[in-house]
Amino acid sequence: MFDAVEAFYRPGTVREALRLLQDGKNRARVVAGGTDLVVEGDRSIRFLIDITHAGLSYIRRRGKACVIGATTSMAELEGSPVIRALAHGILARAAATCGSVQIRNRATLGGNLANGSPAADSAAPLLVLDAEVVLADARGRRKIPLAAFYSGPRKTAAGKALLIEVAIPAPPRGGRWSFQKLGRTESDISVVNAAAGLQLDSQGRVKWARIALGAVAPTPIRAANAEKLLVGRKVDESALAEVCNEVGRQVRPITDVRASAEYRRETVRVLVRRALEECAAGTGCSL
Ligand SMILES: Cc1cc2nc3c(=O)[nH]c(=O)nc-3n(C[C@H](O)[C@H](O)[C@H](O)COP(=O)(O)OP(=O)(O)OC[C@H]3O[C@@H](n4cnc5c(N)ncnc54)[C@H](O)[C@@H]3O)c2cc1C
Repeated sequence: MFDAVEAFYRPGTVREALRLLQDGKNRARVVAGGTDLVVEGDRSIRFLIDITHAGLSYIRRRGKACVIGATTSMAELEGSPVIRALAHGILARAAATCGSVQIRNRATLGGNLANGSPAADSAAPLLVLDAEVVLADARGRRKIPLAAFYSGPRKTAAGKALLIEVAIPAPPRGGRWSFQKLGRTESDISVVNAAAGLQLDSQGRVKWARIALGAVAPTPIRAANAEKLLVGRKVDESALAEVCNEVGRQVRPITDVRASAEYRRETVRVLVRRALEECAAGTGCSL
C-alpha cells in the first residue's frame, strides 16, 4: 500500500514535524493513528511523518477551558475523567462510538477532524461545545473556530498546517447535552449523527441552544436557524416539529454505500428530536 514511501519520520517536537512537512513539499503526509490514512492508500506519498511522539497527547485544563492535544486517542478521550465530566461527557460518549476498541486505541482526535470527513463522530459534539482548533505552520500558530475549519468534503483550513490542539471553552452553566449516532453496525462510522446542547431558564425556556449534524452535508454543520427557533421557548411538541422541519430543510445529504439521501434526511430529523428530548429531560449523555 505504501510501496512508494521512501522515508518514515518520527519527530519528537512540533517544530521538527513542521520542518519535515515543509521539506517534503507535496509528497509528505502526516500520520497519527493511520486508521484513515492507511485505508486511503494514497500512492503519491513519499514521506510519512508520524506525529504521535511530538508531545501532542494530553488532556489539560487551561483556565476555564479544556485543551486536548491532537494525537490524543479516542480511547483516551473515552476514559478521561476530565472529558467524562465535561458537558455530561458528550465528547467521551462520541469517542466511545468510534469503531472498535482496536480502532479507538489508534485513532486520534486530530486525525478525526483533519481527515475532513462530514461523518467524523467527534465533530458534532465539538461544534455544540463551540470548540476551536489550533493550527501550526512555518509562520506560527493560529486559533480558529471549528465551525470555520471545514471548507468542503475532505477539505479543511489545515492545508499544509498541523492541527495541534483542540480548545473547548467552559460550557454554559447547567447545560444539558446529547449525542446521537446511527451507524450500520455498532462499530461503523455514522450514517448520520447529531449533537445538541441546551441551557434552560428557571421556567424551562431555552436560553441557549446548539445543534450540530454529521453526514448530512459536505461538512459537519451547525443548524443555526433551527437553534434560533428554540430560543425563548419551551421544548414542546410544536417547537420540536418546527425545529426538525427546519433541520430537514437545511441538510444536503448524499446517497452513498451507507444510505440514501432520503433516508439520511428523515433520520437526521429523528436524531435531532431524540437529542433535544434528552436535553430537555436532562437524561442525555450518561456513560
Ligand atoms: C474500521 C474503521 C472504523 C471506523 N469507525 C469510525 C467511527 O465510528 N467514527 C469515526 O468518526 N471514524 C471512524 N473511523 C475513521 C478513523 O478511525 C477516524 O477518523 C480517526 O479518528 C482518524 O484518526 P487517525 O489518527 O487514525 O488519523 P490518520 O489516519 O493518521 O490521519 C487521517 C488524515 O488526517 C491527517 N492528519 C492526522 N493528524 C493530523 C494533524 N494533527 N494535523 C494535520 N493533519 C493530520 C493525515 O495526514 C490524514 O490525511 C473508522 C476507521 C476504520 C478503519
